[in-house]
Amino acid sequence: MSIIAAIATGNNPTAIGIVRVSGAGCFALCDAVFQGKHPLSQATPRTMVYGDMLDELGQVIDRGLAVRFVAPHSYTGEDSVEFFCHGSPVVMQALLRGLFAQGAQQAKAGEFTQRAFLNGQLDLTQAQGVIDLIHSETVEAAKHAVAQVSGTLRRDFSTIYDGLLDISSQFYAVVDYPDEDIEDLNITDIQRTLDTSAQTLRRLLQTCNRGQILKSGVPTAIVGRPNVGKSSLLNALLGYDRAIVTHVAGTTRDTLEERVVCGGVLLRLIDTAGIRDTLDPIEAMGVERSKEAVSQADLALVVLDGSQSFTSADQEAIDLALQAPHTLVVVNKTDLQQAISLPELPCSVVSLCAKEGLGLGELESAVAMCYPTGDVPAGQMITDLRQQEAVQQAYDAISRGQEGLAMGLTPDAILTDMEEALTAMGNLTGKTASDDIVGRLFERFCVGK
Ligand code: GDP
Ligand code: ZN
Repeated sequence: MSIIAAIATGNNPTAIGIVRVSGAGCFALCDAVFQGKHPLSQATPRTMVYGDMLDELGQVIDRGLAVRFVAPHSYTGEDSVEFFCHGSPVVMQALLRGLFAQGAQQAKAGEFTQRAFLNGQLDLTQAQGVIDLIHSETVEAAKHAVAQVSGTLRRDFSTIYDGLLDISSQFYAVVDYPDEDIEDLNITDIQRTLDTSAQTLRRLLQTCNRGQILKSGVPTAIVGRPNVGKSSLLNALLGYDRAIVTHVAGTTRDTLEERVVCGGVLLRLIDTAGIRDTLDPIEAMGVERSKEAVSQADLALVVLDGSQSFTSADQEAIDLALQAPHTLVVVNKTDLQQAISLPELPCSVVSLCAKEGLGLGELESAVAMCYPTGDVPAGQMITDLRQQEAVQQAYDAISRGQEGLAMGLTPDAILTDMEEALTAMGNLTGKTASDDIVGRLFERFCVGK
């Protein structure tokens, strides 16, 4: 495989910039662009050395650190080098040109990780974890992703894969050589393998919703009658005031969704264009629009004006919001004399002052309570749709196999089910995944990873 190189730290000025190189023969190539006290190719592996970095003309463009990793003890599993220079895009690009001049090629998006996969350093669930970790927007999402990188799902899936492979090969022996004296299939053992596999897969399938929310955020609607403070709450959550400023009535619509982390939970605020204050009444959050937003929401926040008495319109907003899986009532305007008296409500109520951004902590706690994180161990969750589909497919096939055996079918009758489950599991880990599946996963990476 060729020697690849890329900037790993993006194209904005940063304190330190990292340029990575990977591929057999890359040490000699790197010696030509890095001049330390001793050649880099002779440096102790995994130990930083200091030296001059050269561009394609052999001129010094920075002084910094370099470290080499000797195959297979590297991220990619190949010989590789990382340069730590000053994080000016100009400096990093000059170093990169120096490497290209020596024969390195620009790495494609995700190519380092793809090589790691091809060299068996990680499987597809771990590669998925790497992407998720890079894109994580909450601490919980990061914790989950890093556990996945360390192989939580890989272990579960490999156990199932190996069990199924064992069953299939025994079945093949029986199907192919019916007259030979093959030791009797131990149906009880097979059933036990299928049972534990199904159990693991079922447990993982039950985490899909949670996983989706962890990775993509909670679709959230804000509802309430006019002037209770919906736009103000939106601004308080977003932490800055841009509702009126960016909106010009009748021209381009604002983005329909904004993301904010509240109580450690990523909220995707639906239809923020409708929540924002606008001089155009058609743009206001009408009843129909609120219904639409709630129908897409997992969390609905009902805003009430604490300085006014409770009205039938407030009750309607609450009734609507209660249709979402999670509902919180937000009594706003706590800075004013309170006049509201609430009926008995089947959901949590928090009070705050949106205008000043005071009392948001109470809302954060309430949101965190709606989406507890502790009960699923890190890494034991399905966050990806592709994974979900494959797990479901394997689970369905295994369930059919279980039923078949329970009905007393002969092994050959459930062989196709076992094969299907095996293929699905192979796609998950990458053991038997097509180039197409693998390619699509790595497309989502950034260059330099
Ligand atoms: P919306 O129609 O529900 O989006 O309500 P707005 O956010 O536009 O707020 C309506 C009015 O209430 C504005 O004049 C806000 O300044 C005011 N308001 C919003 N939140 C508060 C608050 O916490 N305290 C006070 N005193 N006024 C608020
Ligand atoms: Zn508004």
